[in-house]
Amino acid sequence: MKKFEKHCKGCRKDAHCCIFKKTGFTFISPKDAKNIKQKINKDYSYFLDYSPLSKKVVDVLRDCDPALEGRMRYLQLDKKNRILRLKTKKDGRCIFLGNDGKCEIYSIRPNICRIFPFWAMRLISRKIKVIEHDNKPRCKAICSISKIKDDVEKAISKKKAAAIRKIFKDIENEAKDYKKNVRGFAKELICR
Ligand code: SF4
Ligand code: SF4
Repeated sequence: MKKFEKHCKGCRKDAHCCIFKKTGFTFISPKDAKNIKQKINKDYSYFLDYSPLSKKVVDVLRDCDPALEGRMRYLQLDKKNRILRLKTKKDGRCIFLGNDGKCEIYSIRPNICRIFPFWAMRLISRKIKVIEHDNKPRCKAICSISKIKDDVEKAISKKKAAAIRKIFKDIENEAKDYKKNVRGFAKELICR
């Protein structure tokens, strides 16, 4: 990840992956939410958002490339178009993005933050292929390697690709468990 960090340091404010000015959000699983709550010793209401998404956001998720994260999130929505996510501040910054541009919960950040700016997809062979997180990436780090190779997996080390595949498997499992677990978790949230 070292090569990417140099891009992150100079990342334009509006392209920062932790700032959501239009439609993005940071998905979080109930398990990670519990872990964060325990570690930061604050109530869920400080950092969790379970309100219905706007129609505009739902439309973007629905129309997303089926291989990308948006479609996974679309399938996770409940009947009220809710999905568990991190709160943002008024300016769109993630609740955990410090004024110094650093993540305040870096060691316990959600899986999506660990895999970004990469994503992965299951091939028919069931193998996992590493791809970019976005079709038209604005992230400088991923753009820098997309310029070198069409296939980002070929532009990163085998070790890095293996680490991304592992996170992706965790994301897949997290998505499988999500619907089972979120109802009980939401009740816990709402009852507080
Ligand atoms: S990963 Fe990309 S979007 Fe995020 S801070 Fe680094 S360069 Fe910017
Ligand atoms: S949890 Fe940390 S890495 Fe993830 S979006 Fe928020 S500030 Fe960024």
